[in-house]
Parts: sequence; structure tokens; C-alpha cells
Amino acid sequence: MAPEKKQKRLFGTNGVRGIIGKDMTPDLVLHIGEALGTMRKGCIAIGRDTRTSGDTLAGAIKSGLLATGCDVVDCGILPTPALQYIVRENYDGGAMITASHNPPEYNGVKIIEPDGTEMGDEDTIHLEELIANRTFPVRSWDKVGREFANPHLVNEYTRAIISKFPKEPGQRMTVVVDPGSGPACATTPVILRALGCRVLTINGIMDGTFPGRLPEPSPDGLFGLSALVTASGAAFGVAHDGDADRAVFVDETGQFIDENQEFALVAQYICQKSKGTLVTPVSTSQMVEMVANQAGCDVMYTPVGSIYVARTMRKLINEGKPVVFGGEGNGGLIFPDHQFCRDGGMTAAMMVAILASTRMPLSELIRTLPKRSIIKEKIATRNGLRVIEKLSGIYTHEQVDLTDGLKIRRGNSWALVRASGTEPLIRIMVDADDAQQGDAFFMELKDHISHALLSMG
Ligand code: MG
Repeated sequence: MAPEKKQKRLFGTNGVRGIIGKDMTPDLVLHIGEALGTMRKGCIAIGRDTRTSGDTLAGAIKSGLLATGCDVVDCGILPTPALQYIVRENYDGGAMITASHNPPEYNGVKIIEPDGTEMGDEDTIHLEELIANRTFPVRSWDKVGREFANPHLVNEYTRAIISKFPKEPGQRMTVVVDPGSGPACATTPVILRALGCRVLTINGIMDGTFPGRLPEPSPDGLFGLSALVTASGAAFGVAHDGDADRAVFVDETGQFIDENQEFALVAQYICQKSKGTLVTPVSTSQMVEMVANQAGCDVMYTPVGSIYVARTMRKLINEGKPVVFGGEGNGGLIFPDHQFCRDGGMTAAMMVAILASTRMPLSELIRTLPKRSIIKEKIATRNGLRVIEKLSGIYTHEQVDLTDGLKIRRGNSWALVRASGTEPLIRIMVDADDAQQGDAFFMELKDHISHALLSMG
């Protein structure tokens, strides 16, 4: 595990989140604004998703930024990747009010750096110290910031994606979009229509009560999307999480596509076109590495968390190395030609391009991917890190990767054991060539873990 991950208290790997009125209050967000305004100068762009508490928290963060001398531009409701794009193009930083895939009662803040990436660990720890110590130099009447509003900046984001697909690959293609009443109601249908698609929507009206489904686009919430896809003869359906940095898909038969398969399919398409490195966390299915290798690309692994993927991609590119693609096995994909963050709208557009170029139904394309047998399980314990230390001693003669937890590699199969950063448990993942091998690997590991836990009493 990366040591810096353990030091953050308030912010997790995806910003700070909590339940409104409980651990997430305007007070806290005001202090985040004051701390950010103390660290950064210039003009900070503010965005929010469709949550009912969005206005309250946006007001609080703007107040903190203005009081400490920053200007702010309010971009209104828009996807997180749209704000990241706008910040990179125009501003000195950003703050997104969102709780991503969490239920409606949650909200939170994600800080965006001038280059459009999320704030890194070192700066986040500094920000947290400022918040804890409440040491903000509040400016005098002639030094406070000014507020502007620009709800039209989101069009820069949609135009940027559309410009990547000049041949209108979506002609004669029907697509169903489920933005889940979130901010992509105003972006993904616009993008896909500009690509030539006939677009139908479900849950396509912004609503912070999320009347149609919860912000997490899990298969059980997407039955309406599946039904509309099959009824309309659509090529695919796409659904976003609450801030539309992720996209998940159903095929033309209405079948939900596993996010690792989605990742592998897009990886295959991109790696066939350009050569270089693909960057992803250690928890991503081996099928992604297999398709990348087959197409002549290599894979670099990072700790779990999209920010580690994005920053590794930036670092490699700064070193002059070609980086073709990145992402996580949860529908959060990063296209370095576009920007260094997960982008659900770009992912939806890319699926149109893939289907147009291969002229095969999505279900058939998925069947061409390598088959994997995947097991995921959690074990409750407070001794996660000690267990991993013990296991590391057992597997010294095998090929191991200590990027995040312990990953034991055997050919194309592997097992990963990680201690949760937020809960008292360890997560086990096995990704194997077939079920028999996977079960055996899993049982072996579980045995070692049970022994290790027993010895700790
Ligand atoms: Mg999200």
C-alpha cells in the first residue's frame, strides 16, 4: 500500500463525502473553501451534480473561496469530467460538489487542480491541516474575491468530445442513454446526437431525489434501460453514475456488461490503433492486460484509485513515454488524448466508434474477449496489514507485486489481498484462467489467512 494513502483523514481517494446534516455540513464545506482559497490564487471554477443539497454546499465553498481572496466562476450543474475539462482549459483550480455514486442523502467535495486532475495526496494533507487548525487569513473588504456565473462553459466540454469523432460514426445507430437524473442529462445525449446517433433517454430529467434509480448504476437499477434498448432495437444502452465520470453498458439484448469486459473491449480497440502503455490499478481483471499485450501494448499497475492512474499517466507522458489508455474496472476510463480523468461521456462516445468500426453486435464483441474466472470476498478483521505482512513472508518464492496490498501472480492468473483503508476488513480477489484454478488459489489463500488470524488471537 502506498504509505501516503494512510495519512489522509478527511479526504478519501475520491474527495470528502458524508451524509448531509450529519457529517457533511455547510460549515465543513465553508472551511474547505477557506483552506483552498488560502492555498490557491486566481479564479476557481465551481460545479455540482443534481443532488438536492448541491446549492447549499456550492454556496458554502464559494463563500470560503471569496472570503480568502479567490474569484469564483459558478458553472452550475455539470458532470465532474466537464468541470475538470473546463478547469484545465480556463481556470486556476476547481471544486466539484458531488457524492458520485452514493445515495441521495450524501454529498461531498472533490478538489480539481489547474491541470484538471484531482488534488494529490500531499496537497490534500496540507489542505486538511489548514482545515483542522482553522488558520485562514480572511481578506479585507477591498481584497475579497468576485463571483461570476457561466452555465454555458459545459458546452466547451461536449464540443471537445464531439471534435474527436469528426466522421459521425453514430449514423444509423440507435442508442439509449440513462443519465440517472444526474448532470449527464445535459451532456451525453448531446454528444451522441452530434455523433449521428438516434438517442432515446430514460431517467433523462435532472432530479436530485433520483426518482428512477439510485446514482450507482448497478445492474438491478438498469432494467428500464435494458427494456428500452430491446424495445427500440438500440445498438446499446449506456448508464452513468451520479457525476458521470463512469459509464456502464447493456448490449443490444439488454444484457449488462461487466465493467472489466467494457474496459477490455475499449482497451482492445485503442491498443490496436496506437502503441504504448496502458495504466490501471492492480485490481483490474487480467483480461485487460491480455488484450493489451495481444495488441502490442504493455501495462503499468498503480494502487487502487483513479487519481493514482491519472497521475501515473501524466508522469509517464512527462518522461516522454507513450501512454495510450488508462482506467479502472468499474466503468471509469481515462483517455489521455482527451484529458487525464475518468470521463463517462467520452466513454459513451468511444463505444459508438467501436461498434461503427467493427460492425459487430456488442454481445458478439464481448464474446471475443478472454474468459476469466473471478472471485471476490471480504474477511472481517482489524489486523489486515499484519495479515498481509505474514502472507508476504509465505509467498517469497513467487512473483509478487506490492503496489497495493499483496498480489501473487502465476502466469495469467493472480490473487490480490488488500486491507481496506476505511473499514475493518481485508478484500480478496482472484482472477484465474478457469474456475478450477481460481477455486484452488482462493482456498489456498483463505487457509493461509485463517492461520495468520488464529496466530494473532
Ligand atoms: Mg463518479
